Amino acid sequence: MIQKLEGLKTTLWSGLAVSLVIVATLALQEYWLEKIGFIEQVLMGVFVVGIIFSAQFTRSRFTLLISLCFCYYLVSKDVIDGQAFLDKNPQWLYLATLFILAYLTLIKDRAIISVHGVVRVFGIVICVALAKLWLMAMVWLQSYALEKQLTYVDIELFIINLPLFIVAILVLFKSLRQPNLLVSSLLTTLIVGNLYFNDQISLPVSIMFSLLVAHYIIVVVIDSYYLAYRDELTHLPSRRALNQYALSLGRKYCVAMLDIDHFKKFNDNYGHDIGDQVLKLVAAKLAEIKSGGRVFRYGGEEFTAIFPRKTADEALDELEKLRQSVADYSIVIRHPIRKTKKSRHGSQSDTLKTVSVTISIGVATREPKSTFEQTLKQADQALYKAKKKGRNQVCQ
Ligand code: GH3
Ligand code: MG
Ligand code: MG
Repeated sequence: MIQKLEGLKTTLWSGLAVSLVIVATLALQEYWLEKIGFIEQVLMGVFVVGIIFSAQFTRSRFTLLISLCFCYYLVSKDVIDGQAFLDKNPQWLYLATLFILAYLTLIKDRAIISVHGVVRVFGIVICVALAKLWLMAMVWLQSYALEKQLTYVDIELFIINLPLFIVAILVLFKSLRQPNLLVSSLLTTLIVGNLYFNDQISLPVSIMFSLLVAHYIIVVVIDSYYLAYRDELTHLPSRRALNQYALSLGRKYCVAMLDIDHFKKFNDNYGHDIGDQVLKLVAAKLAEIKSGGRVFRYGGEEFTAIFPRKTADEALDELEKLRQSVADYSIVIRHPIRKTKKSRHGSQSDTLKTVSVTISIGVATREPKSTFEQTLKQADQALYKAKKKGRNQVCQ
């Protein structure tokens, strides 16, 4: 269950950050109120920067969202005609926004200036049309209920609340399911937008959009950083992060290379997908490293641990604990059983199976005048020794 809520942390942090910013903005009203004219001028630039920036980083969902916000803002400021139309159709506008947020939650980010961009714009048009269709259906239902004198059903209550409920559940589910800052910010957009629409946040539209677009730009920056420095499968810092970190190491440190034993055989037995699951869980165990150690995914089923200001002797205890905790770890996996004719239509097509893996570790202290690469190589030789001695052990 917890494994399925990998996005919980991202969702909570994102929600907390946005709440704090809104509370702070409300509290600091007197400071920005006198500069509102200036903020409105800057906002135009922020919109354009947001659109270009998110497109450049292939975050097309934000490009679309910021573009839509920009259009709405221009209408609300009478730069583009249409305020009267929006005032006349608040429910349509609200529902269209809801459907667009749901749509953006479901699609992937692809290059905006491509056929995908056209498809996505078309998708947004469909969302707007669906919102209108929904309203028309509700009007029809209302007149039908009136005609049949079904006074006990209050359709008015469903017009907004039902789609809101479904979209909120969908976006929340998606946000909790995977650690994706972009989806989390779609959730915060939904919540904040809803509070704003219901007059529970009283901020001028320009301030609201300034916060929103700044939020999107920050998310693109953080997300790109994570993409570059975090390994996608295990969420551990990547090899690039390791190389970066090595530059800031002092003269005293030790390096450990950790490698899962017989992992090729494991993949052959259970399949690559289960191998991936296990790799992820082992990585999560390794991330619990203490004594000031830091673990990186070196590549494949190999990890690197660095202990700054420690010799291999001093890190040995912690590495031994790590090795033991992986060896003791009973990993429960869903193992698909071969379907027989009888079970093909049954619901029980997976069995739960407990597996375990072991790791071998080689560790080396940095010697005077040695480079990081040389120390890493020594750790690799120590790892080779651990493998040769029978695996599931730590060697210096
Ligand atoms: P040893 O005990 O000597 O380390 O044996 P090994 O089989 O673990 O070593 P080897 O280097 O021959 O094979 C590593 C295997 O790890 C090959 C590949 O199938 C598997 N592997 C590497 N990266 C991944 C990955 O991202 N996902 C999965 N599922 N398997 C991976
Ligand atoms: Mg290997
Ligand atoms: Mg291996």
